[in-house]
Formats: sequence, structure tokens, C-alpha cells
Amino acid sequence: MLHLHDTATGRTVPVVPRTAGAFSFYVCGPTVYDVPHLGHGRSVLVFDVLRRYVEATGLAVVHVANITDVDDKIIQRAQQEDRTAAAVAGQFEELWWDVVDRLGALRPTRAPRATEYVGHMIDLIGELVAAGAAYETPGGVYLATGSVPGYGLLAHQQLDELRTGARVEVDEHKQSPTDFALWRRDEPSAAAPAWPSPWGPGRPGWHTECVVMSLDLLGEGFDLHGGGLDLRFPHHENERAQAVALGREFAHVWMHHGFVEVEGEKMSKSLGNFTSLVDLLDRTDARAFRLLVLRSHYRSPLEVTPASVADAETALGRLDAVARRFPEALSVGAGLPRQGAGPTGGETVVDEAEIAGFQSSMDDDLDTPAAVSRMFDLIRRANATADAGDGAAALRLAATVVVIARTLGLEPRGPQPGAGQADDEATDLIRRRDAARAARDFTAADALRDELHERGWIVEDGPEGTRVRRDPSS
Ligand SMILES: [Zn+2]
Repeated sequence: MLHLHDTATGRTVPVVPRTAGAFSFYVCGPTVYDVPHLGHGRSVLVFDVLRRYVEATGLAVVHVANITDVDDKIIQRAQQEDRTAAAVAGQFEELWWDVVDRLGALRPTRAPRATEYVGHMIDLIGELVAAGAAYETPGGVYLATGSVPGYGLLAHQQLDELRTGARVEVDEHKQSPTDFALWRRDEPSAAAPAWPSPWGPGRPGWHTECVVMSLDLLGEGFDLHGGGLDLRFPHHENERAQAVALGREFAHVWMHHGFVEVEGEKMSKSLGNFTSLVDLLDRTDARAFRLLVLRSHYRSPLEVTPASVADAETALGRLDAVARRFPEALSVGAGLPRQGAGPTGGETVVDEAEIAGFQSSMDDDLDTPAAVSRMFDLIRRANATADAGDGAAALRLAATVVVIARTLGLEPRGPQPGAGQADDEATDLIRRRDAARAARDFTAADALRDELHERGWIVEDGPEGTRVRRDPSS
């Protein structure tokens, strides 16, 4: 059974789903006001791997990740650029999904936008005011954190310590420094949207959107809430505080991943472009960044350097080489084989003991560094076994590699027609798509990808541009 480190209890706990056979989780998504950075990429990949693994073990997953499309930073950018907040949010949301796709991550089951939930948020704030847990000031409505039992649970600090902390909003009318805005009163302007409410026109605070959307889409007592370590306090603490104040059961397990570190000042110049996820993806195989993420434990800092990216690309070459040497291994069934179930007829056989070993690493707080090192050890053994002349045993090891790689979201590339083998029509579409991508016209690039797909090609983005191979299912 999967065990994860729970930030609330500070312990590694078994993840027992609320509903047998299902798993529900909520991840805080981006505030869409700028290009995604490496930290966003790590977040997407950490939770993509969690989801793929849980799905591979046979659970039905509901994955919700929001888009924060109303926020001070969005409004600020809109004002600077003489645009509306909606225009800024729309532009960067489109870029966000393009990056998620390029990372090879599964899109969330549901991806609510904050602006679609303002009515629900007003209802929740009204309930908090009626319950005496929130109060009105000239600036808006605030949650009285002193009224919430266990406030400080995720920060692992006492309320007194938090009160003297610096990372809180300043407002002279607040009853306590840790109290936070549920509703900010503001008149609508050209750049900033405002909604009518019982407390005057304005907009909701960030901490209210996630508690409303997670409870609405996943229900009380959902299985897991995740995000980066920087969200633990005040964002997650404050989401939780609102649920607790209303007696609602909130997330069972809290999962937070570490930061991304780019080498110090000395290297910052040569790394300049890598700090943008988009530029990293333009220059490298997206799987290399995924492998880099997997090679660090999710709770540890992740260091990204040109050398570590290059090293991951070399390692991917070994994975792809094994897929080319043993193409039959690619026909292995989807998901993780049930223990002791044996082959289901016609399927390539895998090494069950190795799969069990992989699962025990993943069940141990997603120990992906151990899982990845097992995979590369299996690659080495598959090649050595084939060199020694035992083809059947080598194929079994190679098929095991494929199952592990796919569960981690690293699709191995076997023998395939490259762009050179595309027909004239596809070659033309590829050329136009690469030009659109170079011009950052993602709408056109997406449309051309869809067109290739309709003509029976699977489209992949590599360092040298668009690559296609025949879709066997079409
Ligand atoms: Zn959130």
C-alpha cells in the first residue's frame, strides 16, 4: 500500500482511500500571469507521477488542479500592459496547458478556474461570517484565525509564533496579524474585475478559491491535497482553516514537494534560459527533465544544471536503445501486472519480483530515485543477458523496464519512422508546426498537431522539433 509523508502529522502514513478502488486529489495550480518556471514543471511532474502510479495500481483517480485567473499579480500586469485581467489570464493559461502537454503530463480530470467559482466563494464567506469565524473591516472580510482549532497545524507552529512572523498581510483593521482576507472590497476598473457581494463589490482572496473548488469537486474528506512547500503556509493552512471553521472534513493527507535550485551566481548566466521551463523544453527532450525530477526525492531540493540535464539525456538514450533492441517489449500490457496473476495470454511476460520491488520503492513515500536506479539496472541486465545469448530472459527484463518506464511517464522510443519517413503531406504540416512554435503561435501549433493526429500520426516534440510516428491505433 502507498505510504506518503503527511505534512499535517509530520509522519509517513498509509494512504487509505475514502472510497475503495478510488483516489481523489487536489493540487494547487498556477496563477496565470507569467511564463511557467522550473518549479511549476516539477510540481506538474511530481503529481503526474503520483497519479500515473496510483492509476497503474488499479485505482480510479480523480485529479483536480485549479487555474487562479483572478489575482493581484494578474491585475498588476494588466494595468502595466493596458489590458484586461481576463486577457492576461487567458494568454498565460493557454501557455500553461501547452507546457503541461509538452511535459507529457496527463491533464487534470477537472481544471476549474477561480472566476467560475466566485458565487460559491461568496456563499462560503457568508457561512463563515454567520458562524462568527469571519468579520468585516473597511477593506473587506477577514477570517478570525484565533477562532479556528488547530490553526498552525501545517506550519507546525503555534499561533503566537505565527503572529510574530512576517509572511502575513498587513491591514490595520485586522484583529490578529494571521487573520487573512476572504473578500477584498474594490471598485471595478478597466483592468480589474469586481463582483457584487453582501460586503460590497470586490474579489475573493486566493485562499478561498481552493477550499471551495476542492470541496465542491471532490467532496468532504478527499484523499490528498498537494502543492509546493511554499504553499504549506499561509495558503494551505488558510484553506484548511476555512473548512475547519465550518466543521467540514478536509484533505486526509497533505503532500508537499521541495523547491528547484539552479546553481549559484557563478553559473547563473549560462543557465539563464533554463530558468524558463519553456526554454528548457525548447532545447531538450521533455523526458530528460522528467527523469531529472524523478532522480531526486520529491521532498528534497531539485538541482538543475546543464550537466544534470545532459546526463539525463544520455541516460534516456540507454532507455530508448533497449526499446530498439527489444521492440517486442513495447507490446507489454498497460498498468502494473497483478501479483501472481501471470500472463493473460499473448502478453509479453515481465519479471514479477522486479515489479514488486519497484512497487515497494514507490509505496515508500514515492521513492522515485530508487525506482529509477532499479530501471537502469534492469536495462544493463537485459543487454548483458541478451549478449550472453538468453533471448527470452533478456526480453522479460526489457519488458519489465518498459512497464516501469511507462508507469513513471517515460515512454521509451523504439524503432520508429522519424520525420524523414513522414509522407509529403505530413512533412509540410511538420514544417508549418515548427515555424508556428518558433513564432510562439501555440494556437496554430496546436491546430497543426491536431491535423497531424487526424491523419494518423502521433506527434512528439524533440530537441530538433516536431517528430511523428504512425499511430498504430488509427
Ligand atoms: Zn490552492
